[in-house]
Amino acid sequence: MTVANASGLAPSSQSLTHMARELTSNIDKLATLESCGRGFKFEIENMAKRYFVNQLSDFAGTLVEMPKADIKNLCQLYTEKIFSKQSIKRDECNGGLYTGAAGVGYMCYFLSQHPEFASEKKFLEKSLYYMKPALHFAIYPEKHEKDMQLAFILGGIGSLAVGAALMKALGEDEEMQEYLNQYNALAEECMDRDYLGCGSDELLVGRAGYLCGVLFLEKVFGEKVVSDEIAIKLCIATVEAGRKYSKKRKSPCPLMYAYYDTEYLGAAHGLSGILQILINFPALYEKIPNALDWVKESVDYILSLQTQSGNFPCATDEVTDPRPESDELVHWCHGAPGVIYLMATAYLKWKKEEYLASCLAAGEVVWNKGLLKKGPGLCHGIAGNGYVFLLLYRLTGDKKHLHRAHQFAKFLTSEEFKKAKIPDKPYSLFEGIAGTVCFLADLMQPDKAHFPLFDVFQVAR
Ligand SMILES: [Zn+2]
Repeated sequence: MTVANASGLAPSSQSLTHMARELTSNIDKLATLESCGRGFKFEIENMAKRYFVNQLSDFAGTLVEMPKADIKNLCQLYTEKIFSKQSIKRDECNGGLYTGAAGVGYMCYFLSQHPEFASEKKFLEKSLYYMKPALHFAIYPEKHEKDMQLAFILGGIGSLAVGAALMKALGEDEEMQEYLNQYNALAEECMDRDYLGCGSDELLVGRAGYLCGVLFLEKVFGEKVVSDEIAIKLCIATVEAGRKYSKKRKSPCPLMYAYYDTEYLGAAHGLSGILQILINFPALYEKIPNALDWVKESVDYILSLQTQSGNFPCATDEVTDPRPESDELVHWCHGAPGVIYLMATAYLKWKKEEYLASCLAAGEVVWNKGLLKKGPGLCHGIAGNGYVFLLLYRLTGDKKHLHRAHQFAKFLTSEEFKKAKIPDKPYSLFEGIAGTVCFLADLMQPDKAHFPLFDVFQVAR
């Protein structure tokens, strides 16, 4: 199985790359010195090569909201564009909720449940249109696609979970039950400690993803539809895998994981995404009493790595050998915009102020360096980073964060944003404008807003 790194980068795969980066950075500095009067401007542009310099006005005591009608129009504009471009051919189902047709199906389902869009029946119909082929792809994978069937965000089980939610909304109980049964049945294949052979615990393709789906379904159905027995067995396998790897590598963190030999720390492939999910299953701690300490110590290990600016390293090899600031990643997949969900979950669960302080610091780096040139999406784009402010608003009630979320949304319509890159899958949920639509729609209901597919406030359930 080959799974692309969510950022399209391998942040720490080799020290040679790191040396090359340092060299480039130094050459850039020399160029700065030699470019006389243009030096300062060059330096600023070089530092900000991954993001647009934030010139948006910050909160000054009065909330400046984007008008609801404008947000709704933008959503309509984006959705029409998606519907005219996103096909349902088998190839387009690859990538699951991340870049496949299922992600567009999820966006439509999400809008069908949203008070501003619920009266428009087309969203349920469109969701079905995109989910049908995605579900077929999930249930009948080719031999070489079998591993991806077990992936929540990048593969088949994510489609099964959203399919079950959609069938509930449509009142199609038989199909709903069929998808739930299949979701339950596939758990058995995720029990082996390394069923993928490249690290099997992270969120996009691994066990944390399966467990994220369990929480998603619990929220949709208002009750547990995957048995505690299954969920806890998977949690135990995850903890055992993390302990074994940590001991083997003599890691300073009691739970540690590698995905394709890199010890990622972020939300997509890394430790913070795994811990964020484990915190949600307290029954685990009845089965393995030490697990609670290991989880807490691991959260505190990540907390200890937060930089002055509020960001987090992508992987453990960057802890001792930090990447140059000009290469810093402020993405949901790698960096503060993803780790913030772990810190928020920990804060909501254990009420320690340092976790909230960490979230606020993460918000600062996202405000300063989060207008990403990579595009409008969730994984490494403006919408994913905008969600950070919606989370902070729900955590604190401070209108400053809501103001910042609106500013990020407005930036999507700016002249400057036209210079941003167009993602490979421009209509998808995690890279493209389907995720942007979710962010914009959530701006209209900030008290309920949450990053697609998981809601950290569920931990207090
Ligand atoms: Zn990414």
